[in-house]
Amino acid sequence: MNKDELWQAVLGELELSLSKASFVTWFQYTFIVAEENNQIIIGVPNLFTQTWFEKKYHDLIIKTLKKITNNRIKDVIYKIESREDELILAQKSSTTFFPKEILTEERKNVLTNITTQSSLGLNPKYTFNKFIVGKNNELAHAAAQAAGEKPGLIYNPLFLYGGVGLGKTHLLQAVGHAMMENNKGIKILYTTCEKFTNDFVNAIRAGKTKDFQEKYRDVDLLIMDDIQFIEGKEQTQEQFFHTFNELFQKNKQIVISSDRPPKAIPTLEDRLRSRFECGMIADITEPDLETRIAIIKAKLAEREYDLEDNIINFVASSIQNNIREIEGALNRIIAYHSLKKENPTMESVKNIISTLTSLPRKGAISPKNIIQTVAQYFEVPIEDIIGVSRKKELVNPRQIIMYLLREELEFSFPNIGNELGGRDHTTAMHAYGKIKNQIIDNEKLKRDIIILRQKIFNSSI
Ligand code: ADP
Ligand code: MG
Repeated sequence: MNKDELWQAVLGELELSLSKASFVTWFQYTFIVAEENNQIIIGVPNLFTQTWFEKKYHDLIIKTLKKITNNRIKDVIYKIESREDELILAQKSSTTFFPKEILTEERKNVLTNITTQSSLGLNPKYTFNKFIVGKNNELAHAAAQAAGEKPGLIYNPLFLYGGVGLGKTHLLQAVGHAMMENNKGIKILYTTCEKFTNDFVNAIRAGKTKDFQEKYRDVDLLIMDDIQFIEGKEQTQEQFFHTFNELFQKNKQIVISSDRPPKAIPTLEDRLRSRFECGMIADITEPDLETRIAIIKAKLAEREYDLEDNIINFVASSIQNNIREIEGALNRIIAYHSLKKENPTMESVKNIISTLTSLPRKGAISPKNIIQTVAQYFEVPIEDIIGVSRKKELVNPRQIIMYLLREELEFSFPNIGNELGGRDHTTAMHAYGKIKNQIIDNEKLKRDIIILRQKIFNSSI
């Protein structure tokens, strides 16, 4: 059975277990790109489908593939890809699998869903009145409010930066909500750097760059989240530069977030950097104890759930530098006690927090452990990785180590530099950004990192 026959067989099975509409909507433009080492790569038309497959259909697809191949296929990944004969294939299959009338109706629905989602894309919870202001974020908050009240005038662009889980996305979207409240007909587009890049790549591929430009340039507010991932992507930077200029000239508001200030994004083009720096730049740092307590109280009130003050203090002291983690802990505490139908006590909460903070991610892995595992995996001596040589076979593992030190141990960039023989922090930043970018569409790298993570975690347990 060749790739196409195999996929046709899978589709035949899937058709039986899904509704006609879902089947047509999601599987129409799919095909097998390749099979390698018992893993199949399935081509899907866009990010939306990719995410949907990963979340909703993964188990079903694997199960079906295993059944048809007698367990030969062990894994599946999804990749955004189209192929030239796609249309012919779609036409051919439409007689068997994809009846025309459902096809158009269903696709229309999906397409409107996608556009309404992306033309808004705001989380209803991320408003100013749900945002607790502390010393750590007051400037960012004030600037965001001003931008929402008088868009395009005072703080344009507004550039917010800070660490993970500290409220950047929340504030960015709050600007959108505020603008919408003042003017219902306003056009807002929330996007992430990753989505912008994907959209752009897809637009080029489909010969639809005009549509792309229209989508991003015909708005009153453009929210660009996590811009740091634009580093190293020259064409995307160029596109964003033009988008930026056009919006800016029309006095349209632009708000941007990043995990670091513009000057610390090493490969950002100067002209973009200076655009970012001409507006308002505000940082968000880690919240102090009082702010964390206030945030916990606000989240509990939202959930209509009570915790005693000493328990709240305990949670606030245990998790210090990431509000998303605080929220996660609260969810765990609430879920656990609701299931058990018990009231939370200091002891039960301590237990939950200790399981959260003693996950292997936190304690057991050491930098040495990561360096060793990566060196072994790529079969290069540790001394060489730490050393000065810039040979390609060393640079890649070295950069992967830097990436993993950041992702798994949340090391600061200067610390990462130190671990690797006293390198400069900008080198570490660059390496981290580069790997993070490449992972998006480099399947081999993605797989290497999955395997490395498994090895690192296994060796630490
Ligand atoms: P970032 O984009 O910086 O990684 P997010 O904006 O996604 O962080 O915030 C993570 C979570 O923490 C969100 O659910 C957000 O609502 C919440 N959060 C962050 N800062 C605050 C704050 N000051 N007040 C209330 N909730 C906050
Ligand atoms: Mg965010």
